[in-house]
Amino acid sequence: MTEVDRKQDRAPVPTGWTYAPAPESRDIVRLAEGYGHFIGGEWVDAAETYGTIAPRDEEVLAQIGQGTEQDVDAAVAAAREAFANGWSELPGSERAKYLFRIARILQERAREFAVLESLNGGKPIKESRDVDLPLAAAHFFYYAGWADKLEYAFPHRQPKPVGVAGQIIPWNFPLLMLAWKIAPALACGNTVVLKPAETTPLTALVFCDVLRQAELPAGVVNIVTGDGRTGAAIVDHPDVDKIAFTGSTEVGKAIQRRLAGTKKKLTLELGGKAANIVFDDSALDQAVEGIVNGIYFNQGHVCCAGSRLFAQESIAEPLVEKLKKRLETLRVGDPLDKNTDVGAINSKMQLDRITELVEAGKEEGAEIYQPPCRLPEKGYWFAPTVFTNVAQSYRIAQEEIFGPVLSVLTFRTPEEAVEKANNTPYGLSAGVWTEKGSRILWMAQQMRAGVVWANTFNRFDPSSPFGGYKESGFGREGGLHGLEPYLRFEA
Ligand code: NDP
Repeated sequence: MTEVDRKQDRAPVPTGWTYAPAPESRDIVRLAEGYGHFIGGEWVDAAETYGTIAPRDEEVLAQIGQGTEQDVDAAVAAAREAFANGWSELPGSERAKYLFRIARILQERAREFAVLESLNGGKPIKESRDVDLPLAAAHFFYYAGWADKLEYAFPHRQPKPVGVAGQIIPWNFPLLMLAWKIAPALACGNTVVLKPAETTPLTALVFCDVLRQAELPAGVVNIVTGDGRTGAAIVDHPDVDKIAFTGSTEVGKAIQRRLAGTKKKLTLELGGKAANIVFDDSALDQAVEGIVNGIYFNQGHVCCAGSRLFAQESIAEPLVEKLKKRLETLRVGDPLDKNTDVGAINSKMQLDRITELVEAGKEEGAEIYQPPCRLPEKGYWFAPTVFTNVAQSYRIAQEEIFGPVLSVLTFRTPEEAVEKANNTPYGLSAGVWTEKGSRILWMAQQMRAGVVWANTFNRFDPSSPFGGYKESGFGREGGLHGLEPYLRFEA
């Protein structure tokens, strides 16, 4: 008997490998009991408050101000004063210094912000740590670089700031959306009144401390918290020059109607129902990773999520089989655990919406698959879900679910794929999986979507413009294009 044989005799055969919990400590986050509004560089008490919670267990994290019309008015006045008394006249190279400082402080405090983002929003720590925070800092770095080069970006057009920007952001990427909005606005010499989403205000409020650390002049950035009524007060305020909104198509349309006939500039980044199209010549295992990243990243709370999978008929069956196997390995659970792939649903309201649409999918005749997984008892959770047997007319193929729910459809020819993929009121993003470069280029031209990813999905970069067609909105954020909404041109 050899030594190896003898060892095998004695060693117990492992029956399965389990993960040990790997929780990220939340001690790094120090929250106040309550927060007011950040106006003119000072904290202003709120008359009315509500509790913001952690969706993983419904723990109340802090009391938050419900901004009134008076609060919005004070914030706009502070922003106007800061605009008129220095900020808009500051040389671009000086504005850039503040943006660089903010970027560096965000990097230094990245872990604290990542933990807080996961706590208040429910997203897995590995995503807030590896995606949200690095990208938020990168946006400030990127736009810091443009601040003193605006006349080169727009030669012979004499770019000038528009004034006070009102910015309203959603709950799916709270700090990242804040960075997408504030960085270009400040780089162009504007001042800001920003409202974070009702359910995820905490990173925006702690960000005010970063602004103080960076010694940004008072009033350049003002944060007013609250629900849709506070957002509406910003939209309607007569002294706001520009509105930047990210959120649902429904609210986006309402804002557009309210601004019709006013001089306010508007950009809308709204919903989506992206097609992720897999051709039979693609590397299927890679495609499966892209599909998973496309729809289960951030629990599917992503406007550009690849929520409709189009599989070429000849490979549809093996692709779905591989996908189901892969779903069995996804770990659903505590957002603060470093092994978690799918975290908590952001709110009870969103969970109800996902549940309603999934029920509709079942009733309409689609076949549901959910991998075996034990969901925590407290908090808001939804298992990763795949629907097969889906017809184009089903609600799950038409409406934005904004949750970890994928609808699988099939196609035979590239022309059919294009026709079906474009058969949606939305037009934000799309994905194409194929070995053929010529097909990628052809598909990219045919897709009516602002972003088309090839052999990848959900890739973001501050230098790359992002935005939609049709009911996904208009205007671009990111890149050189992202400067334009914050400028007026004198020549
Ligand atoms: P909303 O569009 O209501 O929220 C986006 C932001 O707008 C929030 O800050 C919100 O405040 C604010 N808001 C709400 N009503 C008004 C108003 N009348 N005037 C001005 N601002 C307003 O999205 P929801 O959070 O209600 O989500 C509903 C659905 O929208 C989701 O199920 C999803 O399908 C979609 N959605 C899409 C997003 C995207 O990035 N494309 C992002 C978020 C949601 P408050 O937080 O108080 O509601």
